[in-house]
Amino acid sequence: MAGAMSETSRAVRKVTIVGGGTAGWMAAALLSRLFAGGGFDIRLIESDEIGTIGVGEATIPAIRTFMELAGLDQVEMIRATQATFKLGIEFVDWRAKGTSYIHGFGTIGQDLLWLHTHQFWLKYAARGQAKPFDAYALNCLAARRNRFCMPDARNPDSPLAGLDYAYHFDASLFARHLRAQSEARGVTRIEGRIVDTICRGEDGHVDHVVLADGRTVDGDLFVDCSGMRSLLLGQALGVGYEDWRHWLPCDRALAVPCASIAPLTPYTRSTARDAGWQWRIPLQHRIGNGHVYASDYISDDDAAATLLANLDAAPLADPRPVRFVPGRRLRAWDKNVVAIGLSSGFLEPLESTSIHLIQTALLRLVALFPGEGVKPADVAEYNRQTAFEMTDIRDFIIAHYKVTEREDTPFWAYVKHMAIPDSLAERLELFRTSARFFLHSRAELFREESWVQVLIGQGLAMRHDPMVDLIPDADALAYLRDIEAVIDDVSARMPDHAAFVARNCSAA
Ligand code: FAD
Repeated sequence: MAGAMSETSRAVRKVTIVGGGTAGWMAAALLSRLFAGGGFDIRLIESDEIGTIGVGEATIPAIRTFMELAGLDQVEMIRATQATFKLGIEFVDWRAKGTSYIHGFGTIGQDLLWLHTHQFWLKYAARGQAKPFDAYALNCLAARRNRFCMPDARNPDSPLAGLDYAYHFDASLFARHLRAQSEARGVTRIEGRIVDTICRGEDGHVDHVVLADGRTVDGDLFVDCSGMRSLLLGQALGVGYEDWRHWLPCDRALAVPCASIAPLTPYTRSTARDAGWQWRIPLQHRIGNGHVYASDYISDDDAAATLLANLDAAPLADPRPVRFVPGRRLRAWDKNVVAIGLSSGFLEPLESTSIHLIQTALLRLVALFPGEGVKPADVAEYNRQTAFEMTDIRDFIIAHYKVTEREDTPFWAYVKHMAIPDSLAERLELFRTSARFFLHSRAELFREESWVQVLIGQGLAMRHDPMVDLIPDADALAYLRDIEAVIDDVSARMPDHAAFVARNCSAA
């Protein structure tokens, strides 16, 4: 426990990163950039024999902040990783079979007084006087039309300023790209399989790890990026795991690439299946696909058959299985070990949050960096923030399952009727009765626009805020028509996504 720790342990000069997946190389890239000139010795141990999890291709817009902080050029990264642009996620068959909505990044319309656009939409859509909800959000309409261009950051009054974007990229190529940058900045890569972890007698901190060939690697601080094995935090220090399968019953995935087809869609697609859901992530050179499912409700063979029956083109490999337990380590930082990435916990990739969690963990570590030694107060703050972040995102993901009209299979019947955390239940009730939604903390990842799109898309909001009735119909309808017209015009003038990629950042 952090409380049992001496006030300050030894100063940190040697940082040893264990693992070279997305988490390990993101850590190496960021720390080598931010701590350049500080005299730190940063090394990374990885094992080609073990390899990486090899999935994780969709991101959210905050990745661009990471790129900037880590000193990565956007176009170079896109070329190196066969990346495409992502405006949001289309959810197909989630509310009911035959339905589709987009959770787009970016803004929805423009507030009128204190009232948000979705409130007007709810009122007039019910009367047949509004277009589909996508027509009021530039990200969504551009995604439907396969359009993309960069928002102009220098012109905040431009209608394009409301656009926001992330990337789809090849995770293995991303790690390779980060490795090249990190090694160029002095990070030492050590190839080898760790077979043992030795802790110090006096304080229980990790002293060194032992490799299969007998070499040892020490460190003042260990960043455990060893994936689901959680070699240091979970195995060596014995930090326990909180299991969230009762709220998120999906616990397996199968991933398979297939050839690209036109058009090159600027969004991820998530299609609900009988016992889970299937992702579709378009890259420049292929499409990444996967089936995330609950093993209590479907066999592995049936899950594979479902995946293979729903590809755009012939598979390019056999489906690769992954098993996981949704949840989190009880402490992400213990003694001189900070677990980042899958070693600290996992939430299914429904909202593409894992790479983001790596990024925020790294920024938290930088903000609380134990340069003078590990201090209990820093550890406690780090763990408090990490716990908040995981439960916050967990609740958003649970909402996708809980708010549905589906109960056509045992899986959907279970998630529709399952008990949910109180914090989420209160939010859903507020939205159900008046489509009102409020953030409880600035630290929440998903903004009001995200919740609104998902809750409306899943079919929760049927009643608008009665305060909307204060605005005369003629004014309210003119306001909605203005938004429609601007978004229609701007999205129609944006270039085709594939053409934009080919012109500006093609890997070819
Ligand atoms: P890994 O990639 O598993 O890396 C672990 C590293 O530790 C490897 O280098 C390995 O060799 C090394 N290692 C392990 N044991 C030893 C040892 N004994 N000795 C030496 N080295 C060792 N995230 C997103 O943001 N978007 C997505 O779309 C997305 N999709 C996903 C889909 C699925 C099905 C899953 C399971 C995850 C997905 N994720 C996604 C999460 C994402 O894949 C991970 O967060 C990300 O890849 C980070 O993984 P990692 O680096 O923690 O672990």
